[in-house]
Amino acid sequence: MLIEAFVFIFGICFGSFLNVCIYRFPRNLSIVKPSSFCPKCNNPIRWYDNIPLLSFIILKRRCRNCKESISFHYFLVELITGLVFLVSYIKLGFSFVSAQYIVLFSLCILVSFIDIEWRAIPGWICILGIILGLLAGTIETFFLFNKSCLSVTSVTEFPIVKSFLGVFLCIGFSYFFKLLGDFGLWIYLSFRKKESIEGEKESLGLGDVDFLGMVGAFLGWKLGFLTFFLAPLVSLVYCIYIVVFKKSHLIAYLPFLSVATFIAVFWGDKIIKLILPF
Ligand SMILES: [Zn+2]
Repeated sequence: MLIEAFVFIFGICFGSFLNVCIYRFPRNLSIVKPSSFCPKCNNPIRWYDNIPLLSFIILKRRCRNCKESISFHYFLVELITGLVFLVSYIKLGFSFVSAQYIVLFSLCILVSFIDIEWRAIPGWICILGIILGLLAGTIETFFLFNKSCLSVTSVTEFPIVKSFLGVFLCIGFSYFFKLLGDFGLWIYLSFRKKESIEGEKESLGLGDVDFLGMVGAFLGWKLGFLTFFLAPLVSLVYCIYIVVFKKSHLIAYLPFLSVATFIAVFWGDKIIKLILPF
């Protein structure tokens, strides 16, 4: 229990750092300087007001200086990051694989919350994710060679091959669907004699395509494809809610792709066996 608690606390502290990144990356601010400040009054936040989860509750979601309310996102990011660290540890212990999943999930949380606020993400984040995924595949291949327990039967099961193949197939596949969707949307818009839907002319954004490349780099193409197909199911209820009640069509899709990634990591192999039992 002590280790679990430590992992969770480490997770929420890392979530606090992710909050800084979520606020500063899209605004092109440094993540090192200055130290934490209130986005409303710009006053620095003291360390005792910056304790993950607790400060939010103690301050009753208000800044001590200006009394303006603090977004619930801050609390949510810390809590989710803590839980993701905890679940990864419980399922896989301290291992290279669990470290990889923690990196992937952290990137998911980062891009999801940026997407919720801006409906776009800085392009370099998923590119960095792709590079990290390829790096992980390379390191894992070295582990295999060092242990000289090559139980892999085919070339495509080498982690490095799996990673590279994952990136190319997932990007190619989702880009193909993006073009298909854009074409459909274009026909719809010309039919309705409209320029765009609420300023949007794309079906999937390039951010979503890069995101799937990142998932492919970490998990391989099979789980990447599964993530692609799971996301619409995950988002279904929300999409209906937005279209019917909010009369809108604009949806930040990365949070749903992220939830789909989480499902693919822990239950993906079982789901694939269920769909394709041969
Ligand atoms: Zn303030």
